[in-house]
Amino acid sequence: MLDKNNRHNQRMQKKKKQIDESIEKASKKKGVLLVLTGNGKGKSSSAFGMVARALGHGMKVGVCQFIKSRTDTGEEAFFNVHPNINWHVLGDGFTWDTQNRQQDIDTSIKGWAIAVKMLQDPYYDLVVLDEMTYLLKYKYLDESEVLEKIADRPYMQHVVITGRGASKKLIDQADTVAEIADVKHAYRSGIQAQKGIDL
Ligand code: ATP
Ligand code: MG
Repeated sequence: MLDKNNRHNQRMQKKKKQIDESIEKASKKKGVLLVLTGNGKGKSSSAFGMVARALGHGMKVGVCQFIKSRTDTGEEAFFNVHPNINWHVLGDGFTWDTQNRQQDIDTSIKGWAIAVKMLQDPYYDLVVLDEMTYLLKYKYLDESEVLEKIADRPYMQHVVITGRGASKKLIDQADTVAEIADVKHAYRSGIQAQKGIDL
């Protein structure tokens, strides 16, 4: 037993040394670009988790919700009353609801202009561009312009982009990328979207 405890202590000492070394190596301070993509559930919810973290630290947050048109979500009701957040719902709904490509393009361009203001304003410590990948995927916006504006943002500003099908260029530019896999979703067994879970 004593032997087992000793071995555990030795292993943990070695591990602590490795972890301390890697923490010391990661010494850069800089705004990061995060991309949360994939077909599984949890991309936007994860982004809003970071919004909560940032607000908790007294940081200033901007949120642009593309595609979505609903303003009755729990996240908006909860966060939009906070003095340090600026929240915009910039979509007309899903493409299969609007059924009007030119309208979708015009809406995207107008929404993007609001996002650009945030990306040029050092007031914002964190900017969330929720469902932004679709604007690139459907070519509603010029990808190289979008990537350029993101690259030119204030040095310490963090940006989170969510949505399925993130492009290779966006992934290459990002500092952190997570792809959420779709293992199962309640919707497919006939369970409707639930308040507090899905909206
Ligand atoms: P969430 O906002 O719950 O974090 P998400 O941002 O990862 O989800 P979206 O594609 O933006 O995913 O989906 C928005 C809505 O669709 C949510 O209500 C979510 O529960 C639901 N959804 C997400 N993934 C799936 C899926 N694989 N199948 C069915 N519905 C899904
Ligand atoms: Mg989402």
